[in-house]
Amino acid sequence: MDFILFGPPAAGKGTQARRLVETRGMIQLSTGDMLRGAIASGSELGRRVASILEAGELVPDEIVISLIEEALGEAHGAGAIFDGFPRTLAQARSLDEMLARRGRRIDLVIRLVVDRDKLLSRIERRFAESGRSDDNPAAFATRLEAYLRSTTPLIDYYRAAGKLAELDGMRSIEEVAQAIDAAIAARCGAASPSAPDSLTAPSAKR
Ligand code: ADP
Repeated sequence: MDFILFGPPAAGKGTQARRLVETRGMIQLSTGDMLRGAIASGSELGRRVASILEAGELVPDEIVISLIEEALGEAHGAGAIFDGFPRTLAQARSLDEMLARRGRRIDLVIRLVVDRDKLLSRIERRFAESGRSDDNPAAFATRLEAYLRSTTPLIDYYRAAGKLAELDGMRSIEEVAQAIDAAIAARCGAASPSAPDSLTAPSAKR
């Protein structure tokens, strides 16, 4: 099973993706983490993208597409969670092609719906706590704008494909996690994790 976690910056995609890694043994493919890793390593790619991330703009499609292509590899085990990718229609189409070449496909797109005020208050707190530089107010405004302009068209793309599940992302981390488990169970039939925090989800074993 391959999923996309979809939503605006600071919607909680990374937190929920990490939980799916722990409970289901999936792999998390986060282009944001990959790009920050490239910057931290001082690679040529890192030097190319550093100022783009700093400003909160989108990195060119071909760069993130090739990062994902590399990371996909051949083996996938329990499947992948795409987090922060795709962010444009071109990325979404490439992802469909990359997966099709491997006999895979996106099974479910989980959209976390969070309103703007909530995002702003979360990001203020995160900026104060972690100091991630693109959480500063100006860069965050640019990230939100990029999301609204380039990424929201994907909602219709995946809705038309019948793959979209929309969840209220304003609730607690645990409540959102349970809603995600329920959406996965509804779509994929089986497979709620056996972790004790999933008592309200259907109890089928993977
Ligand atoms: P968030 O979801 O909180 O905005 P990410 O870690 O996903 O954070 O992304 C951080 C930054 O990395 C983005 O603002 C953008 O500059 C760059 N980036 C990440 N993924 C992509 C992508 N798929 N396409 C273009 N740029 C990306």
